[in-house]
Amino acid sequence: MSDFDPDAAPGYPGEGKEDADELRLALEPELSDLQERLYANGRTDPENAPNLLVILQGMDTSGKGGVIRHAIGLVDPQGVKLKAFKAPTKEERSHDYLWRIRNALPERGMIGIFDRSQYEDVLVVRVDSLVPETEWSKRYDEINAFEAELAAAGTTILKCMLNVSFEEQKNRLAERLDDPSKYWKYNPGDLDSRSKWPAYMEAYEAVLQRCSTEVAPWHVIPSNRKWYRDWAVAELLREKLAGLQLQWPEAEFDVAAEKERVARA
Ligand code: AMP
Ligand code: MG
Repeated sequence: MSDFDPDAAPGYPGEGKEDADELRLALEPELSDLQERLYANGRTDPENAPNLLVILQGMDTSGKGGVIRHAIGLVDPQGVKLKAFKAPTKEERSHDYLWRIRNALPERGMIGIFDRSQYEDVLVVRVDSLVPETEWSKRYDEINAFEAELAAAGTTILKCMLNVSFEEQKNRLAERLDDPSKYWKYNPGDLDSRSKWPAYMEAYEAVLQRCSTEVAPWHVIPSNRKWYRDWAVAELLREKLAGLQLQWPEAEFDVAAEKERVARA
């Protein structure tokens, strides 16, 4: 993790904060068009159309919510299926850890967003020893196999680790306490995970090393600067959707005949 600079802005085509909103919003027309093509394909071919799964991971305050609002928010919400994973419920705990993940997968033509994911089962679970090591250590390979299976079935996977520094997290926690409109985001329990920062970094490192595969590589997004983080995820989303080379579905009716019918209607 120490190889990654949370203050960096790789690939950013502008000057900095001052033009970031403009550059991010400039992605909207293309993103909208691509997302609508995806959705249209899902409607006409609900068995085989592709779909996209965006996995967001990061320490508290890293900005998973901000990315959903500012990057994913550029596309039509009708085509987005959002799922936030919390500590497992009693029912979820009675199943395999991938059970709730499988249940939340996006349908064909949809963009699925995971706010936290199966990776919690090798992050918080590892750091807090919620299951024995013999158990969680098997999960890296299981997760790779699971993601390979999804990819083979037509799901494009975009995994983003929002990388915020220890110092910046402190600033953001303090900000939440300075502003009554942010109290709801403050969770006293976040300080527990903050106190285990090195163990979390080790756990993230294992995830990046063991679960960056060809079909589902991790992208570490420098996230100390919110404007860069939001632009970067929007741009990755655009690249992934563009890579699908989606065509508009052919009409499943005789267009000329239907035009005549409409003219006469
Ligand atoms: P938040 O995303 O801030 O609403 O917090 C959700 C909380 O749920 C975090 O503290 C996560 O660590 C926790 N959580 C998510 N998935 C799991 C899991 N599989 N096992 C234990 N805790 C989890
Ligand atoms: Mg939180």
